[in-house]
Amino acid sequence: MFKLKFNSQGLIPAIVQDHKSGEVLMLAYMNEESFNATLKTKKIHFYSRSRKKLWCKGETSGNIQKLKELYLDCDLDTVLVKVEQVGGAACHTGHRSCFYSKYKGGKLKICGKPLFNPNKVYKAKSKKNDVQSHKIKPV
Ligand SMILES: [Zn+2]
Repeated sequence: MFKLKFNSQGLIPAIVQDHKSGEVLMLAYMNEESFNATLKTKKIHFYSRSRKKLWCKGETSGNIQKLKELYLDCDLDTVLVKVEQVGGAACHTGHRSCFYSKYKGGKLKICGKPLFNPNKVYKAKSKKNDVQSHKIKPV
């Protein structure tokens, strides 16, 4: 058996990649519970650091991620999941990938267009959950 190396908060970063194109869709954190839930349900689960609870990706939007393959890196401290992204967009902003902000000459350029309107998808429900991870810190 292998043993995952969780960090001091009991979390492990998980990179989410489109299983066909190889595009990196997002990064979030799993705890042991979400790792096991991912394997059991074949749907990607994370641990929401802001809500402090198990989070099934797409539970609100319906844009779930179906597990195709799961890899661990050489140190067993990072997870890579290859997924089928239901609805085409992984990001709560409606973008396909969370990585739609391209750094260029000290500025960020938005690449591509959102595939859905987040205000409609999330309606009145709390959407603060993963906004946190999108805040851009000064370089
Ligand atoms: Zn995002």
